[in-house]
Amino acid sequence: MAKKMIKGECRLCLKETLLCESHIYPKYFIKQTRDKIIDNKFQYGSNIKVKVPPQDGPKSHLLCKKCEHIIKIYEDYYKDFFIDKRNITLTKLKSGSIQIRGYNYKKLRLFLLSLLWRLSISPINDWQIKLNKQDQTILRNHILNGVPGSFDFFPFYTFLIHIDGINESSFFMNPFESDSPIKNCVFLYIFGVLYIFSKTSVNDKFTKYNMLTPEKWLCNIKNINDVPILMEKIKSINF
Ligand SMILES: [Zn+2]
Repeated sequence: MAKKMIKGECRLCLKETLLCESHIYPKYFIKQTRDKIIDNKFQYGSNIKVKVPPQDGPKSHLLCKKCEHIIKIYEDYYKDFFIDKRNITLTKLKSGSIQIRGYNYKKLRLFLLSLLWRLSISPINDWQIKLNKQDQTILRNHILNGVPGSFDFFPFYTFLIHIDGINESSFFMNPFESDSPIKNCVFLYIFGVLYIFSKTSVNDKFTKYNMLTPEKWLCNIKNINDVPILMEKIKSINF
């Protein structure tokens, strides 16, 4: 079936052309979640049932075909990496953290940055975040030119979330913003991993600890009860 295209300015390359219906979050996110849905609800842990995103996921006319392809390369990489667990090694450290190695730093980081950027230009309620214009432009240029930046560019750290002792890796939710634990941060919760991102390209409140570097990525395990803000959000989901 032909996809609906309309004329407009591509948000990534800024050319006036035909625009695709771009997914704010990759389509496979939805599929991954859909496999575990009963009666339009996702069973999260033993006692939480949450409503799920629309059938095809949030989308809007944002990108030209060429730029869709740029982003798809990063999306595909994340699927290989995180869902299919291709080529990565996970080691549990004495500290309890999980150390991840063997990833493609450039593609992984650009995927995460592209998600942040797409949310910042998204017109869809519940699937958008606010970035200041200057940082949004910096982010756009990085994605367009394939420059991942170093660990402290739009810094983020991550937690692997456990509920009832298990990491639920089939669930994702809409982003939310907070000034806690760090001012100006945004929470992206994707397949059992909580990403806490800075909403600004530079943020010295984030320390190097636990960041994604070209060599390794440390992820602390946290019980969901120890992250009340996430628990509250999950319970309140009403897409
Ligand atoms: Zn474009």
